[in-house]
Amino acid sequence: MKPVNFEYARPADLSAAIALGGRNDATVKFIAGGQSLGPMLNLRLVQPDLLVDITAIAELKHVEQTPDVLFIGSCVTHADIEDGRVPDVTGGAMRAVAAGIAYRAVRNRGTIGGSLVHADPSADWLSALAALGAQAVVRGPRQERRIPVETLMTGVFECGLAGDEMLTGIEVHRLSSGARWGFYKYSRKTGEFAHAIGAYVDDPDRSICRAVIGAIGSRPIVFSDATSLLGGNSHGAIDRGLVESAMMTHGITDPIDQQIHFACLRRAVEQARLR
Ligand SMILES: Cc1cc2nc3c(=O)[nH]c(=O)nc-3n(C[C@H](O)[C@H](O)[C@H](O)COP(=O)(O)OP(=O)(O)OC[C@H]3O[C@@H](n4cnc5c(N)ncnc54)[C@H](O)[C@@H]3O)c2cc1C
Repeated sequence: MKPVNFEYARPADLSAAIALGGRNDATVKFIAGGQSLGPMLNLRLVQPDLLVDITAIAELKHVEQTPDVLFIGSCVTHADIEDGRVPDVTGGAMRAVAAGIAYRAVRNRGTIGGSLVHADPSADWLSALAALGAQAVVRGPRQERRIPVETLMTGVFECGLAGDEMLTGIEVHRLSSGARWGFYKYSRKTGEFAHAIGAYVDDPDRSICRAVIGAIGSRPIVFSDATSLLGGNSHGAIDRGLVESAMMTHGITDPIDQQIHFACLRRAVEQARLR
């Protein structure tokens, strides 16, 4: 199938794109790398009147560091991060996650922002950035707001952005030199979406110990104080009962699914401890 006919615009500045997104006389869709939206257009799951290509907006490719925070523009590609064109403030975590997304052709075009807004529960960035405690920076016509990455997703393929709001970028806190991380993605073949994800970040100098169970068919499960799973400190064994009860609450009731998700989390924690 081919997409329905649509108009196409490629604004060079953010306010023009936001104004187009806010048009109420047309169904408007932003397109970044097109890796998820392209197939949806071809299948006519999405039928916009106007497609707004946001890849010419320099601000969305901007990357900026302060001593504590790295801002990554939403149109930065997975390959930009994989190849180290974005400063590494996470001790290699983001580079490793980027390298595990799909295959190189997808990573060359797919963007970190598109991945989050697409809100596929299996997406790698969703779980990885939730473990890193990252914030989504969202701009509308009147204001800018920040949302924890894990709450940007409101449902499966649903994102809490208004039509006239854009994700401009992501803020990631710099990990300290003693921080350790693990990310374990289970998929049948390399380059596939995850069937289960475990992510873990332990940064004692910044009092951060976060764990995530992802690719669960909805928002990831985030343990913002993962020491509670580890016997009160970051060195203990994982309390399987607590993890299972969280999974039950989130609708993961099948024992095999529980086992796979638990194993991913355990491996992520083990990876971190071996670093
Ligand atoms: C074969 C294949 C395998 C894949 N495997 C994986 C995988 O293993 N792991 C993984 O995580 N992902 C995977 N992906 C998805 C890939 O990571 C895409 O890059 C990502 O899902 C979407 O990014 P994009 O830039 O292409 O967004 P697009 O397809 O251009 O857009 C996706 C959605 O986001 C919206 N959007 C984009 N940018 C913005 C913005 N700045 N503000 C507001 N709305 C915006 C669009 O309107 C659209 O609704 C795979 C994709 C393919 C095709």
